[in-house]
Amino acid sequence: MASPLLSVEEALARILADASPLGTERITIDAAHDRILAEPLAARLTQPPFDASAMDGYAVRAADVAQLPAKLTVIGESAAGHPFFGRVGQGEAVRIFTGAPVPEGADGIVIQEHTTREGAQVLVQGDDVQTDHIRPRGGDFREGLRLLDAGRRLGPRELSLAAAMGHGEVVVYRRPKVAILSTGDELVRPGETPGTGQIVASNHLGVGAMVRGFGAEVIQLGIARDTAESLNAHVARAKDADILVTIGGASVGDHDLVAPVLSKQGMELAFWKIAMRPGKPLMSGRLGNLRVIGLPGNPVSALVCARVFLVPLVEHLAGRAEASEATRLAEAAVAIEANGPRQHYMRATLAGDGDGLPRVTPVRSQDSSLLSPLAIADCLIVRSPKSPAVVPGETVRVLPLDF
Ligand code: AMP
Ligand code: MG
Repeated sequence: MASPLLSVEEALARILADASPLGTERITIDAAHDRILAEPLAARLTQPPFDASAMDGYAVRAADVAQLPAKLTVIGESAAGHPFFGRVGQGEAVRIFTGAPVPEGADGIVIQEHTTREGAQVLVQGDDVQTDHIRPRGGDFREGLRLLDAGRRLGPRELSLAAAMGHGEVVVYRRPKVAILSTGDELVRPGETPGTGQIVASNHLGVGAMVRGFGAEVIQLGIARDTAESLNAHVARAKDADILVTIGGASVGDHDLVAPVLSKQGMELAFWKIAMRPGKPLMSGRLGNLRVIGLPGNPVSALVCARVFLVPLVEHLAGRAEASEATRLAEAAVAIEANGPRQHYMRATLAGDGDGLPRVTPVRSQDSSLLSPLAIADCLIVRSPKSPAVVPGETVRVLPLDF
């Protein structure tokens, strides 16, 4: 039965139609790296909490060092974590260190390099002696200020900021659980030696690493054989997952059992031919809360389809505000042939010196079964269906493979 080809955009829109964040959980900030904030964060503290010295030196009254040299009486010391509780009066100074509270009465810091200690006194001398080495209270942020919005990914900078704002726990979106199942009688596990007619299953690792990088928790279900029993047994272990990703077995050959077996389990299956290269039919479906995406078995097709369809789904379920189709512009370094009726994701490499657009060159082979050219590539040139031939220097869209 010939079904009409679906565009990449339409297929993606259908996959994302009801994809909203899965729920939230409260976790400690120590475990929050790479998680997505589900609630905005406001400062619970003022930072710095006190006027603090930015340098090692002496806390003084600026008026006392307006005329130099000046000799001041040292009345105490303020170090980080050990404030001086007295007051600096006229003609007095307090020895002070970086990060220590500026004592009352003082309104300036003279850096150590402009001073000579003489017992209980300090001599301040030099040209151009500045005293503005104070980090004012609240100079970073004040209590109540909302600094991180919901949807923000907690990377290194956000984690430090959230902790400094006084948060020991944060409310984040739950991570989508993605169960990945390889299918095929010919497959052996990575590291095993393939026998006659066998190959090493590799796609599950790339797909798993990819979605983990976009916020998923990965459950590897292993390799199902091309039998209904084996498929059923493996799929049963996806019960707690949010997405089941099957790899291979999704064509219409005698041994392509994924669609019939899942349908028998009651899964509503959509089976699409997508106007896309690489990529054979893509399967999408649902069994209760479990979403199913069936990727092609060919390694490059599997990884490209995962990037184009699975990653956006994961991002939507993970609550990532900026979902990443994320194509950029580049300049064709060589001529590229007119494209056929399918959207073509050409493996390519980017080069550039930072001036203007990067230049992009397709890699030698675009065969969707070959992994080594994909490993050389650092982007995919996205060519719309039936787009005309490209001459060198023309602008094209690329999808970076920077994950
Ligand atoms: P299929 O869609 O099952 O017909 O598989 C298409 C091609 O991809 C065949 O050459 C398979 O051997 C290969 N293939 C299927 N699954 C995997 C996998 N997990 N890793 C690497 N190659 C695979
Ligand atoms: Mg197969």
